[in-house]
Amino acid sequence: MRILILGGTGEARELAAALVAAGTDVLSSLAGRVRNPRLPEGPVRIGGFGGAEGLAAFLATEGIAAVVDATHPFAAGITANATQAAAAAGVPLLVLRRPGWDADPAWHAAADIGAAAAAVRDWPGERVFLTTGRRDLAAFAADDAHDFLVRTVDPPEGPVPPRMTLLLDRGPYTAEGETALMREHGVGLLVTKNSGGPMTAAKLTAARELGVQVVVVARPPLPPGAAVVATVPEALRWLAARADLSRTDAGITAAPTPPPAGRRAAGRRGRRSVPRPPDGANPAPEWWSGRVNAFRSPLAPLPGWPPGWPPRRAGSAAAPPR
Ligand code: NAP
Repeated sequence: MRILILGGTGEARELAAALVAAGTDVLSSLAGRVRNPRLPEGPVRIGGFGGAEGLAAFLATEGIAAVVDATHPFAAGITANATQAAAAAGVPLLVLRRPGWDADPAWHAAADIGAAAAAVRDWPGERVFLTTGRRDLAAFAADDAHDFLVRTVDPPEGPVPPRMTLLLDRGPYTAEGETALMREHGVGLLVTKNSGGPMTAAKLTAARELGVQVVVVARPPLPPGAAVVATVPEALRWLAARADLSRTDAGITAAPTPPPAGRRAAGRRGRRSVPRPPDGANPAPEWWSGRVNAFRSPLAPLPGWPPGWPPRRAGSAAAPPR
């Protein structure tokens, strides 16, 4: 009785650790994208399967009894493949997907990375903090109007923005660290995927405190009909409910569900303050004074504002007219 975890996330590692501790036969799979992956406990295989068909064949030959897709919320390709492969192989599939960050009405929502790049292109400020990952940098490669602070785990390999400062780092991050970083670089706009979870949520807290604008890329949709849970204890319960597992892996028991970590930290509304640009840094004074003030106590949009900037706060009676 083997469980396959499609991994690459903290939740996948947590789940693997719990199953290993319960004496379950578990195999974790990583794509092999990062040079120094954080490895889960227990056996690990690394590399693609060769599409949905390759994965279906793998499930059959390895005698996999259940699959948990605990991949990153933006890893839509492997999730689609897992859905197809599990159906073809007749193996139950669970998607373990952490909740997204609670939307702040001040955020500018982008449907995908292209829409985020378009929002940045229209943004009249200068310094942009890009945290969407190295494989999405190509979308910003034609933007020579902005200075990008780009943070990735490994160095980018494809096209990058022409004016880029690269920072190689990996979370978890603290609000203090993120605040200091954004201050140091005079960041006026943060671009992030809605990855959710506590590991990288601190940048949102820092942005809120500094009055930095935020563009959030929405998650790709899950395959229709997918069985989805949000936490590792729920995944353990789902696995425990599989008949064969409850027989051979009695150690898998349902743990109490903790409150979703990081959601409150990311979703809390904090005091909003007008940022002070470091000396000699960043944009024209009107962005920091007039424009930010207009954003905070809405007036009619100033000339030159692109549509949608600044994003309107939902429920605000004083929202600027369109
Ligand atoms: P993706 O676009 O959904 O998948 C592309 C291909 O990579 C898949 O078709 C599959 O190749 C292979 N693959 C992906 N995840 C795999 C896994 N866990 N085990 C074996 N093969 C895997 O994925 P991605 O966005 O490049 O992400 C790759 C991995 O990095 C994921 O496992 C994800 O959990 C992790 N990750 C992604 C992000 C992100 O922002 N996308 C962020 C953090 C971590 P074959 O078709 O050959 O099987």
